Amino acid sequence: MESTTEMPHDATVLKDKKAAVRKTVATLGTNDCRWPIGDPQIAGFHFCGEHASDGHPYCKKHTAQASTPARPRPIQNRNWE
Ligand SMILES: [Zn+2]
Repeated sequence: MESTTEMPHDATVLKDKKAAVRKTVATLGTNDCRWPIGDPQIAGFHFCGEHASDGHPYCKKHTAQASTPARPRPIQNRNWE
């Protein structure tokens, strides 16, 4: 018995290609940079998704950005380990 009711994959992939590039909580891989881009409250929020360095949650660029204090603020919630 064959299933003939599936959606045409090609059309779906082409249509959603842009959205598929964006990493969400659902698509973010273990080695994907999880640097948040945008506001979680606003549609379009996603993660960087670049390849993350071993042992780091972010890609090289965002690891540097995360360790560089852009503005003084109390260090807390640094429990990503
Ligand atoms: Zn990144």
